[in-house]
Amino acid sequence: MLELRPNCECCDRDLPPGAPALICTFECTFCPDCARDRLAGVCPNCGGNLSPRPIRPARLLAKYPPSRQRIHKPGGCPSAA
Ligand SMILES: [Zn+2]
Ligand SMILES: [Zn+2]
Repeated sequence: MLELRPNCECCDRDLPPGAPALICTFECTFCPDCARDRLAGVCPNCGGNLSPRPIRPARLLAKYPPSRQRIHKPGGCPSAA
């Protein structure tokens, strides 16, 4: 099951489960702005591609809650051009 991490690794923006976000195969999670402008669609941690994170239906979030562990690694992210 996806962790549904709560924030962007680059800019620490909140990414609630209904918000658009992008993830790699290891679930490194980024907001759309960082994924496009800073990362050009490539995960800085593993070099894999970033894909849109599926939205978990709201009725399932109580039973399958999103992760609350924030991961913020700005050092791995190129600064905005
Ligand atoms: Zn971001
Ligand atoms: Zn990755």
